[in-house]
Amino acid sequence: MEHILATITRQDPEQWEFHQVIREFLATIAPVLDRRPSYRQQAIVERMIEPERTILFRVPWMDDQGKVHVNRGFRVEMNSAIGPYKGGLRFHPTVNLSIIKFLAFEQVFKNSLTTLPMGGGKGGADFDPKGRSDGEVMRFCQAFMAELFRHIGEDTDVPAGDIGVGAREIGYLFGMYKKLQNKFTGALTGKGLGWGGSLIRPEATGYGVVYFAAEMLGLSGENLVGKRCLVSGSGNVAQFTAEKILQLGGKVLTLSDSSGYIYDEEGIDSGKLDFIKELKNIRRGRLGEYAQHYPRASYVAVDPALEYNPLWMYPADCAMPAATQNEISGRDARHLVEGGVRLVCEGANMPSTPAAIEFFREHRILFGPSKAANAGGVAVSGLEMAQDSMRMSWSREVVDNRLRMIMQSIHRTCLEAASTYGVAGDYLAGANIAGFVKIADAMLDQGLV
Ligand code: NDP
Repeated sequence: MEHILATITRQDPEQWEFHQVIREFLATIAPVLDRRPSYRQQAIVERMIEPERTILFRVPWMDDQGKVHVNRGFRVEMNSAIGPYKGGLRFHPTVNLSIIKFLAFEQVFKNSLTTLPMGGGKGGADFDPKGRSDGEVMRFCQAFMAELFRHIGEDTDVPAGDIGVGAREIGYLFGMYKKLQNKFTGALTGKGLGWGGSLIRPEATGYGVVYFAAEMLGLSGENLVGKRCLVSGSGNVAQFTAEKILQLGGKVLTLSDSSGYIYDEEGIDSGKLDFIKELKNIRRGRLGEYAQHYPRASYVAVDPALEYNPLWMYPADCAMPAATQNEISGRDARHLVEGGVRLVCEGANMPSTPAAIEFFREHRILFGPSKAANAGGVAVSGLEMAQDSMRMSWSREVVDNRLRMIMQSIHRTCLEAASTYGVAGDYLAGANIAGFVKIADAMLDQGLV
């Protein structure tokens, strides 16, 4: 597979996040390629790593002072072998084609693992919603959708949220899509409950991460009761990861944002979590306020230039990174293991660097890779699409049960694929293999398209 890495590095030398995800993928699928020669003959891997379509566009918008800004919009439609493209939109100043391609590639396998008929895609813009008024965010979303609308649709490509795109942004995006198409369809997921959204969608990614962690612990007869957990991030995924840890009897010691983290030795209980939800989702404030409100907790500002994050140094049993990619360095991994962590379950996409994953492997840490562990969000998006098509909505219990069953099934599938291909117990290899085989077979069936 060296030639594939050489080709993508030569073609797009600056796309190092994309190279990282491809390298990790290729390192695990050799046993499948050896057993299925048709995959090599039909250049399945070479076809999979090239997006079916890449859309780049200008997003001009006006701020509250009347100043015009121009941002760059992206949608990478990676693979539609098993269903319409599906994957979130990210609004963050760091967004570039490399990040969107890595996310889109991961999404293909994640969606495949959910067992629902969804292909993979991802999009976004290098727009920073932080510090912008609601009016500015609305105008940006409308300008973004003024181009994206012609590429998406309920049977073509169905975007959702990701970093910087939550309920407010999905509302503005959907409003503009509906106006431009003059149709009320489920072309976006994460919609409000009163207009086509699904119960449990906001909770789904975080809840799913913890259901997956519970399955991993369950193999050795353990559970989350009393387990001390380090969680990073304080957005959608982190909030509901923390909520489910609490519901299952665990203790949440940390949360973070891009400025720093909070450490609360007494545990972030549900009342404190409500404070954080209100702070982050409604007032859109900074996490530092937590320590002013709860003076027995500490807030630590983190220098992004540091090669490690002190958040990962506290003694704990489990870690659920839920902020962003590459947030756990090799050194962080060492700190985690030294602090007693035995389970790492990824809420964010690709939060562990290759050095961290290597360290976890060497130390036999239970490692739930993002494409399996955080698939609950897109799984419930799939359920939202089904409810939209049927013009009906399911109860909280029905959706939550389906989510739990899907996470159990993904967990089982990863282990079975890993055993079948001689890497028993390796969730990362199992997730890659199981996701890959389903897509590859669909591509073979559909011919050279
Ligand atoms: P949100 O925007 O709701 O929250 C993101 C959180 O991470 C915020 O606390 C943010 O801090 C922090 N963060 C973002 N970028 C950085 C950075 N460069 N360094 C440090 N902290 C950072 O996003 P989500 O919770 O939706 O997404 C979090 C992760 O989960 C992402 O990797 C996303 O791809 C992944 N994911 C999300 C899904 C979903 O359903 N939403 C589904 C599957 C995966 P601040 O407030 O300072 O920006």
